[in-house]
Amino acid sequence: MTIAICPGSFDPVTNGHLDIIERTAAIFDKVIVAVLENPSKEPLFSAAERRYFLQKVLAHLPNVEVEYFQGLLVNYAKSKDAKVIVKGLRAISDFESEFQMALTNKKMNPEIETIFMMTANEYSFLSSSMVKELVYFGGNPEGFVPPLVVAALEEKLGRRRSGK
Ligand code: ADP
Repeated sequence: MTIAICPGSFDPVTNGHLDIIERTAAIFDKVIVAVLENPSKEPLFSAAERRYFLQKVLAHLPNVEVEYFQGLLVNYAKSKDAKVIVKGLRAISDFESEFQMALTNKKMNPEIETIFMMTANEYSFLSSSMVKELVYFGGNPEGFVPPLVVAALEEKLGRRRSGK
């Protein structure tokens, strides 16, 4: 059984993330979506909220699990018996840091492969931070994130916007 890990901060999950996870689930026996517990930037949503959104929107995929992780990704992958890390690539700008990360991980554990999947055309511009900024300034994120995330963003950022 080949287990793949899709890591990220998912603050919050976007349709771009979902596309990568769904395509990964169609290839590998099992996919662990690993939610980074302590991203370097202060997250908008708690790790529990980020995981909850992912669980809800991925409930239709029986071979996908959503878990938390912290620390070194290769150590986490090893602890889960996962041989593959799958990352999405949006633009050339993603390439440099992903390249660096993949080579570092390879050095730390040569048994674990990092595989890159190209973003779907319609999501190539999409990032969690772009969506948060959009909502903060009153834009409508429908079509960029799942409906339950639209509501959660509006609830959290709409309140901030109006200073409540
Ligand atoms: P972000 O860069 O949006 O904060 P994360 O750290 O949550 O994203 O990213 C988790 C993974 O999902 C990364 O491999 C990232 O490249 C990928 N990803 C994020 N957004 C997209 C997208 N729109 N299309 C393809 N892959 C994406």
